Amino acid sequence: MFEKILIANRGEIALRVIRACREMGIKSVAVHSTADADAMHVRMADEAVCIGPPSGTQSYLSIPAIVSACEITGADAIHPGYGFLSENASFVQILEDHDITFIGPSAEHIRQMGDKITAKDTAKALGIPVVPGSDGGVPDVETAKRVAADMGYPVIIKATAGGGGRGMKVAATEADLETAFQTARSEAKAAFGNDEVYMEKYLQKPRHIEIQVFGDGQGGGVHLGERDCSLQRRHQKVFEEAPGPCITPEERERIGTICANAIAKMGYRGAGTIEFLYEDGEFYFIEMNTRLQVEHPVTEGIFGVDLVREQIRVAEGMKMSFTQEDLQLSGHAIEVRINAERLPSFTPCPGKITAFHAPGGLGVRMDSALYDGYSIPPYYDSLIGKLIVHGRDRREALARLERALGELIVDGIDTTIPLFHALLAEEDVQTGNYNIHWLEKWLETYQG
Ligand code: ADP
Repeated sequence: MFEKILIANRGEIALRVIRACREMGIKSVAVHSTADADAMHVRMADEAVCIGPPSGTQSYLSIPAIVSACEITGADAIHPGYGFLSENASFVQILEDHDITFIGPSAEHIRQMGDKITAKDTAKALGIPVVPGSDGGVPDVETAKRVAADMGYPVIIKATAGGGGRGMKVAATEADLETAFQTARSEAKAAFGNDEVYMEKYLQKPRHIEIQVFGDGQGGGVHLGERDCSLQRRHQKVFEEAPGPCITPEERERIGTICANAIAKMGYRGAGTIEFLYEDGEFYFIEMNTRLQVEHPVTEGIFGVDLVREQIRVAEGMKMSFTQEDLQLSGHAIEVRINAERLPSFTPCPGKITAFHAPGGLGVRMDSALYDGYSIPPYYDSLIGKLIVHGRDRREALARLERALGELIVDGIDTTIPLFHALLAEEDVQTGNYNIHWLEKWLETYQG
């Protein structure tokens, strides 16, 4: 049994992990930059260690600083949260060499899913349906033209090393192909230091549907249904829900079983998310995230399980506390991401919180590290809280979200709260009638 876990992260996700540790009787260690000395995770953990200056690369991304903090405090394991070092295979390798347990999958599995071409090949070999596309990297425009002619336009050119929606270009016809190809390559080179690109059929009105999976690392694997995260701005999710409004129980069973079997076959350990584009009843794999995701609480809401607790259990070599049969979906959950941003431009807006009041009541969960008088530092992500609601059905969840948003007070800075009031008034949001382009289109006329 772990006695002490170090959390290599900050903000709401650090609190999320500290809470799970406390319920399991495990001591927690917070790490923080000098800019986060007054942060809530530092106050809430049993111990805290300063690991460097404000810049992420010198603190939350510094492997030597984090390993030293682990050794000084005698922590047995590290939970990486999401972002920062959570999908860094060399970090995991170093921890393995230092006999510190990483609460997550093996370095090998992270590597397999890190590079997009390898990930797609691995998915295909595991029986997961993928987007039609090139067989691996596309070296030049002539090959690109041949691949596109075979597949049919429109096509999308994507960076092999891609992430965060960068290095992607769409070509509607052969006339656009050369420019799209060259631009994607140079963007990929600039952003990732690797100009390899590959091609896929461009889906025109898909939804983003992702399957939550969990493996015990010993050949056991389950799925916890889907989340619909189609409401995105610049490929960043802003509103997530489970179950997906357009997914039938039969479809869930079919794609969920494929994913659970894949996880079992891999011998994957811990939480993972297999992301798909979904169009006309078909699922197309785009990538796998080998970590806990920001939006995991909606899945926790409908299944009534604690995913962080399960991550800790399987990292210790225990079995998951549930089987596939135990996992019965109930009701509907929605999460909205509250960012410190000024609308309608979404400009980051850090500053001092003069008043904070979290909503409450039946079916309301607020995961946030804010408190009255807290100063949000300007160095990190602008996510300051997640409001998650659960209702017996989608209609009840929407009404509860509206009610809870009305109770939420974050004074002193601008936030994205008004965006959600406006979205909830839209008929398409009320009926769940949206795809991955809906929000961008709607934002063209949004005044804030
Ligand atoms: P990243 O890792 O950079 O986020 P992904 O492969 O996960 O890249 O794709 C991010 C988003 O780009 C998807 O959620 C979708 O909105 C869009 N996208 C990616 N591939 C396609 C495709 N083949 N057709 C249409 N849209 C796509």
